[in-house]
Amino acid sequence: MIYDFLIIGAGSAGCNCAYVLNKAGKKVAIVDKEGICAGASGAAGAFLSPLPGKKNSYNSLVNTALEYSINFYEKLLPNSVTKKGVLRVQNDNFDKTKLKDNAIDYEYKKFEQIEGYFYKNAAIISPSEICHKLLEGCDFFLLDVSKLIYKDGIYHIKDLKAKQIILTQGVNTPIISYPYVKISPVFGVKIDIKTSTTVPFNIHKSISVSTNKKDGTVAIGATSVNHFLEGVECITTCDKCIFLIDNDEEDIKSLLSQADELINLKDLEVIKVYKGARATIKSYFPVVGKIIDYDQSIKKYPSIKNGTKIPSGLLEYYPNVYTLNALGSRGFVFGPYLAKILKENILDDMMIPKEVSLEKLFYKMARKKA
Ligand SMILES: Cc1cc2nc3c(=O)[nH]c(=O)nc-3n(C[C@H](O)[C@H](O)[C@H](O)COP(=O)(O)OP(=O)(O)OC[C@H]3O[C@@H](n4cnc5c(N)ncnc54)[C@H](O)[C@@H]3O)c2cc1C
Repeated sequence: MIYDFLIIGAGSAGCNCAYVLNKAGKKVAIVDKEGICAGASGAAGAFLSPLPGKKNSYNSLVNTALEYSINFYEKLLPNSVTKKGVLRVQNDNFDKTKLKDNAIDYEYKKFEQIEGYFYKNAAIISPSEICHKLLEGCDFFLLDVSKLIYKDGIYHIKDLKAKQIILTQGVNTPIISYPYVKISPVFGVKIDIKTSTTVPFNIHKSISVSTNKKDGTVAIGATSVNHFLEGVECITTCDKCIFLIDNDEEDIKSLLSQADELINLKDLEVIKVYKGARATIKSYFPVVGKIIDYDQSIKKYPSIKNGTKIPSGLLEYYPNVYTLNALGSRGFVFGPYLAKILKENILDDMMIPKEVSLEKLFYKMARKKA
């Protein structure tokens, strides 16, 4: 059988792409070297919260995606969504004014020893349940893909054949080169705890404490260690990765002490520690669309380096290869919304919004190299 789409990477990005394309009547296969929801997605909070602050293109994208995604998950798998809002306490980055700017459906609230702005449209979901649900109707294969073979309009990956490819590899080195998207890993730890305390809603300051999830447990997360070094490579289960083999005690201690500033969690027992690396680019914007072949495009249009813009579509692209990546710390907020945008671009020829397009980054790199 020849699949319409083969997706590489079964995290939030890949599973959401698989879902929309399958719903559009396409035959979809998805592969992952570690399993479904095993990379960063398996470690995610997964908190879905608005981003307040003076309106700009990034928080507008986040808040639009949030609205879309919460509705989407509630329809997809209501039992996996706990929507009780979030109380955001001011911190160094978000003072009271910033917390109120651009906020919708909110109120000022005092809770025990803390106070802040309470936003109603916030939730926590179960990432693994959601990813598994998204893949119903698609074929999943446990496979580590190292290269794509393209022959007579068809991609061959081991025994699998497909007309179109979507790369949703997170922080892992992409199997084809698109150097203008410079992904860096931002490592993080999240814990699940048992507690006899009822947490009425999510609480966020520098870290988040979740309300009690459907199984009664509470998530606390996440730590964040930036690695904005270009060229840092990351393989999420690599046994040589210092981050992943490091002792968790310091991270757990830090999370618990930050949680303690927000709420007194009684009879606390840490039941699981999750670790992962978020794929992030410097601007924090995610990227989505057809992958431009950098070298071939520059060869065809050398004047790009001097600032010439080529009409969209005339650049050199890898045939029928797309990506959705750099979801950063909001992979479950962006996933459904951007997968829909990618589907509409591939199947209905709709434009990718400029701020998340690959073209923007392509031109940036080309001019820098001039
Ligand atoms: C600790 C932590 C807490 C977080 N908390 C939140 C949160 O509260 N809310 C939120 O929205 N987001 C959160 N995030 C961010 C979110 O998890 C990520 O943005 C999202 O999961 C990224 O999804 P992805 O599909 O792009 O990447 P991943 O989930 O990493 O998936 C990529 C997959 O590709 C596979 N792969 C790569 N290369 C290959 C190959 N060659 N062959 C086969 N398979 C391959 C990998 O095995 C991996 O499973 C958090 C992240 C971390 C680490």
